[in-house]
Amino acid sequence: MQSSHPVSQEPLNIQIPSNLLPADGRFASGPSKVRPEAVAGLAEIADGYLGTSHRKPGVKDIVGRLRSGMTSLFELPDGWEVVLGNGGTTLFWDAAAFGLIEQQTQHLSFGEFSGKFASGVAKVPFLNDPQIISSDYGSHPNPVAEASVDMYCLTHNETTTGVTMPLVRPAGADPDSLVAVDATSAAGAIAWDPSQVDCYYFAPQKVLASDGGLWFALCSPAALERIERIDASDRWIPPGLSLQTAVNNSVKNQTYNTPALATIYLTLHQVEWINSGGGLDFAAGRSQAMSDHIYTWAQASGFATPFVEDPSMRSPVVATVDFDDSVNADEIANALRANGVLDTDGYRKLGRNQLRIACFPAIELADIQALTACIDYVVEALTT
Ligand SMILES: *Cc1c(COP(=O)(O)O)cnc(C)c1O
Repeated sequence: MQSSHPVSQEPLNIQIPSNLLPADGRFASGPSKVRPEAVAGLAEIADGYLGTSHRKPGVKDIVGRLRSGMTSLFELPDGWEVVLGNGGTTLFWDAAAFGLIEQQTQHLSFGEFSGKFASGVAKVPFLNDPQIISSDYGSHPNPVAEASVDMYCLTHNETTTGVTMPLVRPAGADPDSLVAVDATSAAGAIAWDPSQVDCYYFAPQKVLASDGGLWFALCSPAALERIERIDASDRWIPPGLSLQTAVNNSVKNQTYNTPALATIYLTLHQVEWINSGGGLDFAAGRSQAMSDHIYTWAQASGFATPFVEDPSMRSPVVATVDFDDSVNADEIANALRANGVLDTDGYRKLGRNQLRIACFPAIELADIQALTACIDYVVEALTT
């Protein structure tokens, strides 16, 4: 092995020995690795599916299977609905501003995504100013019950910082208030209790190993009632952002306008793969094993530490690792990329000497182990 060590220390010239490389080099936090079996499955059904009407049984059956697959995956209680529409999580935020928030929200802001929803709501002319509770990046704040708040906005996993938070209804909250959770990078890989949540929404390009462009919202009876009440009020709601319209279509296994059929199929494939493997515990266990490996490796290394100090806040699905001054994390990411190991870069706006590694269930533990071996190799090459 010694003789194969690179002589050059230029990141892009570092050649990682092929026996160290992961079988699949996709570690992006979104869009994330799509399982090859799902792509093959799509190719197999393509002739009778892609390019057919989304209002006919061929597609509606797939949407129906997806809705019931999610109902079992999340063990949704009676009365909940799986609602879907076009536009991803970012569009769902706008739809929620029109159709789910009554007057005032409370946001926990602890990263780029949770902050974006909060600042977007702050500009909505017909809502009251939101309450925004922030914490330093690398941690999360907790919600505080307030009489004026009708919706608490939580984020199950802050993808930009690698922080996860427990989903608990704030003690003493008005019984008519809702808990809405951005679960875009958590849904399907972190356990949660539907009794603590009213609206659990996400897009499928992360844990669900599909492509972007759709949003899903698991809605409790209270959330459905809220949507219906606001829809019946005199608030103007743009038709494409109407949650009531989305509900009406979803229960018929349709969307209001044309969806990405490939995305729907790939999502279904992943949901059924998780369900047949044993459900949420199975997927969560895979992610936990991978992120445990990374955090343990970082702590044992002489040059890396988990970014999130409190172990209970460390994300099981997106591991963020800080590097000390002896090594430049961007150079590591560039060297990895030159060897086909992709998207380990830290989140730009955090501005830290950091790598961010997805541990979504579609990824293999063996590939995560290979990745840390590759990082060790690159660090040695960069620093000797
Ligand atoms: C990726 C992500 C988003 C944005 O999702 P889009 O589908 O691209 O709009 C929002 N919130 C979280 C927590 C995310 O991880």
